[in-house]
Amino acid sequence: MTEALDHRALYRLPWSFSDNIIAWLEPTAKCNLACDGCYRENVNAHKSLEEVSEDLDVFARWRKFDGVSIAGGDPLMHPDIVEIVRMVARRGHKPVLNTNGHALTESLLRELKAAGLVGFTFHVDSKQGRPGWKDKTELELNALRLWLAELVAKVGGLACAFNSTVYEDTLDQVPDLVQFAQDHIDIIHTMVFITYRAAMMDGSFDYYQAGQKIDPKPLAYASPTQRRIDLSSRQVVARIQARFPDFAPSAYLGGTERPNSLKWLLTGRVGVPGRIFGYSGPRFMEAVQTGHHLLTGRYVAYTHPGLLARSRWLLPLGALESGLRGALGSYVRHLTSKPFDVRQPVHFQSIMVIQPIDVLPDGRQDMCDGCPDVTVHEGELVWSCRLEERLKFGGLIETVPKESGEAHRARPAPPRPKPGSAQRH
Ligand code: SF4
Repeated sequence: MTEALDHRALYRLPWSFSDNIIAWLEPTAKCNLACDGCYRENVNAHKSLEEVSEDLDVFARWRKFDGVSIAGGDPLMHPDIVEIVRMVARRGHKPVLNTNGHALTESLLRELKAAGLVGFTFHVDSKQGRPGWKDKTELELNALRLWLAELVAKVGGLACAFNSTVYEDTLDQVPDLVQFAQDHIDIIHTMVFITYRAAMMDGSFDYYQAGQKIDPKPLAYASPTQRRIDLSSRQVVARIQARFPDFAPSAYLGGTERPNSLKWLLTGRVGVPGRIFGYSGPRFMEAVQTGHHLLTGRYVAYTHPGLLARSRWLLPLGALESGLRGALGSYVRHLTSKPFDVRQPVHFQSIMVIQPIDVLPDGRQDMCDGCPDVTVHEGELVWSCRLEERLKFGGLIETVPKESGEAHRARPAPPRPKPGSAQRH
């Protein structure tokens, strides 16, 4: 079923290097947790407000975007995080905090909201070594997720998303998180699953930078032990569909090497807590992105939760769109058995699966084509998931299959782009 997920039947999201939904801002490298497979070394270093402002200038110079994902490290570690949120909001963008939530308090949350915050993406999963939650399963961690979601809902008017890294031994627990999101569709607006990746030091590839052979060990995501690093978004969806056969992705970002890679795989669904009426189709996703771009000049990253809670008005679109047609039918049947539920809000929820870098057998690296999570390094826009390579080795690392190392060594180093040029990643 899922292996057959045909990218041509889905809507190819229009996001590009210069016209995208978000920019990825890293004001600090400091974190209060140590997640397995983190893409950034935990360093006690914060950017000054001037440096943050310069990063925002670089984004504005090269890219159109709707929201700013403020990440790190963990952004709540930055002493001026409230002011940083205010800076982003004042520039007319939607600030969202990508945080593990470990340092979040209600008073800080209210300060952040007053500064213009539009939402949170909480990173919660079972491989964070989180004090008080060690050795818990993903299912047991739902208690923490619910605590965070209810805290955000209590303050109100803020989007709430969760992201979890999916590992070989937690793949089976993904449907539990999809069920959890369904049960709390009123206060959880987005779930994101990111398949685990690492720079394997198992001898299958040699690593080069600017023609020089390097040892990837200094990278935060180098893994000396054999681990599964090729889980795909198709496999994650297969696990979900085993429990929820109707689960229907509708839009995607392809790969830079493989056009049928589903690097970002987006699903939209409508329902009430505990009950999903149906899934929006590719045409709906296209209408939302292109319609928002026509009206505002930007693709849409975040929608206000108040609007998401008025999704009953989407259902009549079922007349035009196959995905929502099923939802409309299911809703009408629901009301015939529970007519008083007509007063109950109907919510829209997104489920995103992200499949980061794939190193192909010939060493080519399949990245996300139209990467939303682009950040700034030395005045350039770069893939945030590979900034570590620039910090440690001065540039991106090439992966060369072991058996062709000799040939590679003979090849001259690629020309280095001039600093400040709108270099591609
Ligand atoms: S290329 Fe890297 S940083 Fe960009 S979206 Fe993909 S995983 Fe994220």
